[in-house]
Amino acid sequence: MSDKSKLLLIYTGGTIGMAHDKRGTLVPFDFHTQMDSFLVHDLDIEVGVHAFSDPIDSSDVNPEDWKAIGQVIVDNYQKYDGFIVLHGTDTMSYSASALSFMLEGLNKPVIFTGSQLPIGGARSDARENLMSSLEIAASKVEGRPRVTEVCVYFSGMLLRGNRSRKVQSVHFDAFESENYPPLAQAGVTIDFNQRLLAPYQTNAQLIFRHRLDTHVTILKLFPGIRKEVVDCVLNTPSIRGVVVETYGSGNAPTYDWFIQSLEAANNRGVLLYNVSQCSGGRVMLGKYESSLYLKEIGMISGGDITTEAAITKMMYLLGEVDDLKMVRYLLTTPIRGEMA
Ligand code: ASP
Repeated sequence: MSDKSKLLLIYTGGTIGMAHDKRGTLVPFDFHTQMDSFLVHDLDIEVGVHAFSDPIDSSDVNPEDWKAIGQVIVDNYQKYDGFIVLHGTDTMSYSASALSFMLEGLNKPVIFTGSQLPIGGARSDARENLMSSLEIAASKVEGRPRVTEVCVYFSGMLLRGNRSRKVQSVHFDAFESENYPPLAQAGVTIDFNQRLLAPYQTNAQLIFRHRLDTHVTILKLFPGIRKEVVDCVLNTPSIRGVVVETYGSGNAPTYDWFIQSLEAANNRGVLLYNVSQCSGGRVMLGKYESSLYLKEIGMISGGDITTEAAITKMMYLLGEVDDLKMVRYLLTTPIRGEMA
């Protein structure tokens, strides 16, 4: 049997495949037809291409697109050793987080990448991101895929997808993962941090968890936030879960009206998920008085989860798990390495 890896490149859109139109604005173009000229053929990899017929700027991505990406992976899972998803950088961390939850039992690499400059540009970062992603996805240990999870590869770093977040819109190093070290660093050689990678699971079965509940939202706190704004969010008809972006280690105002609004929402069955606005560190409910009451009214600690992972995890759990007690428990528990 040939050891040559077979990878599927899934093109969804993003800057990597864009070009300037007559107005000088970047718009997606038919990257598919030109793909071949961009691939370097000295890698011992067979590459298939699946291009979405209507490539998008990732600002337009929504859960239907996540289902479509997941479906392509599921349909081609047996035929390929790994998958590269070419995606815009703006919402890449949301998509990578969502897919990490949706692809239960994943045992092959799914690597999201893109670029800050279109692939046709002279100084583009696209080629390196694409070629290194291919090499990483093709990497094997004892004939098995080395990477068996959803990742983001960008500017020399392989990050766990549901730990990543976009932090730069100008420089090439657009992503970081403050609470989990890089899974690999690519310089002259690609150095893997093998002990940090999700282990290969013998006999794992891929299950596509595609039911997502979008009756969720994010409430970011700031000094001066008004009662009517908080109430408007928490009383949104049919809302089931709110990621509350708190300060520091999970702290929030202690005004009576604020506490009462949260408590009333919790009592109505709305899940309140506490995620810190800090990109590093974690929520520790009860460390300060300004978070002790949050615990008492039933708020759920997100630990060191990112907002991107928190909101997509809520969509996934509310869509796939009926028992709300179980949803609450799973929100505090790592299910795909998204929290410590
Ligand atoms: N607006 C683009 C997108 O996310 C930005 C990029 O790809 O870097 O699709």
